[in-house]
Amino acid sequence: MSPAQTQAQPQGPGHPTGDAPASLVIRGALVVTMDKERRVGYYDVLVGADGRIAGVVEPGTGCTGAETLDARGLVVVPGLVQAHVHLCQTLFRGLAEDRPLLPWLRERIWPLEGAHDPASLGASARLGIAELLLGGTTAVLDMGTVHHSDALFEAAAESGLRYTGGKAMMDSGGGIPASLQETTAASLQESDRLAARWHGAAGGRLRYAYCPRFVLSCSVPLLQSVAERAGRDGHLVHTHASEQLDEIEAVRARFGAPNIAALGALGLARRNACLAHCIWPEPEEIDLLARQGASVVHCPSSNLKLGSGIAPLAEFLKQGVNVALGADGAPGNNRLDAWEEVRLAGLLSKVQAGVDAVSARTVFELATLGGARALGLGEDIGSLEPGKQADLAVVDLGGPHAFGDYGERDVYTRLVYAVRASDVRTVLVGGRVVVRDGRLTTLDVRAVLRDAQDGRAAVLRRAGLAPE
Ligand SMILES: [Zn+2]
Repeated sequence: MSPAQTQAQPQGPGHPTGDAPASLVIRGALVVTMDKERRVGYYDVLVGADGRIAGVVEPGTGCTGAETLDARGLVVVPGLVQAHVHLCQTLFRGLAEDRPLLPWLRERIWPLEGAHDPASLGASARLGIAELLLGGTTAVLDMGTVHHSDALFEAAAESGLRYTGGKAMMDSGGGIPASLQETTAASLQESDRLAARWHGAAGGRLRYAYCPRFVLSCSVPLLQSVAERAGRDGHLVHTHASEQLDEIEAVRARFGAPNIAALGALGLARRNACLAHCIWPEPEEIDLLARQGASVVHCPSSNLKLGSGIAPLAEFLKQGVNVALGADGAPGNNRLDAWEEVRLAGLLSKVQAGVDAVSARTVFELATLGGARALGLGEDIGSLEPGKQADLAVVDLGGPHAFGDYGERDVYTRLVYAVRASDVRTVLVGGRVVVRDGRLTTLDVRAVLRDAQDGRAAVLRRAGLAPE
């Protein structure tokens, strides 16, 4: 590999802005920019003191930064975005196996969530965030549990992760334990309080999203109020839709319409909506998503493990629906590895729609630009361009499992089908180095694991449940 092999255009994709001198220069890497021209080449990435990308320039032509990160032989990609996770569930990995969705929720997940206190919830979030950052995920859309949600934002603030999320809203429906049941007024009041406290905190890195869990756990007045608030205040709406067939039948019995159509009628399938799963949409529901600009969050490993089905990715893309990826929660997949979701999204599309239906480059777009758009951050993250946040991952494709020739097409196929989370070396969020040479700089992993051990034991004890 040498600069002579570069796929770059003679001119770099961006130059220093001049008014934002670099504080860090990442030198010598193959850069997969995901910019409008999808340029791939050997560039220096200049990170400004404001945490944004000051330039992506020909090697050696940028200003000298205060710090240089030698990335020769490595690949720099935009930080991966996961638009559907449940950090509150990370402690529950392996505690809810071999059940379909509704019993999985009612018998295990909801009683466990209801047994959280702020300490165990914070431990769960830090465990999940450690895994996410070490694997190159720099931004998430999270769904919390009903109570103690400040602990999620505190963990995100401490760790450096770019976090959008909110408390789960559950004021109605069968099988909800008393520990999670809330009134409509209390659900809205607590959501509003959290939004006021956390939206825009940590220099804008933390944002609030209204999170009605799914239509079966919410009253119509609650869902209408969420649509009104989110429309008025510019917040995202984050919910689940059309995950399993018995769930959809229950929605149809209550609303006289399938799941996505029911959300659409309530004003919850607009541009600010992120709908996780969408495995079983009717054709007119795909049309609705495309027309109204809602995002689908494809969670292939969770969908496989819960036996839910395979979302029609190629059809969504053909119809112009924005699609992002997500790992869902740790008890449903069972890891928060964006590379696994990328790989599975590509593989499943081949079985479902043909081997050439969705290219590796398109799949990689879902994990970067698609996620950025879903989070309403398309102008800020998702690609490596001057002015955008310096959210990026430095990846080592030099292992035997990822060997290749670094051609442009080849780099996407290796990123999608060969790379694994342990290949990630260094990660930046907003210009801050949060992982350096495979080690977290913001969290002490030993303490994270120790707290997770204690938190998991405490949650099981309070829920009155045994491990499976
Ligand atoms: Zn979920």
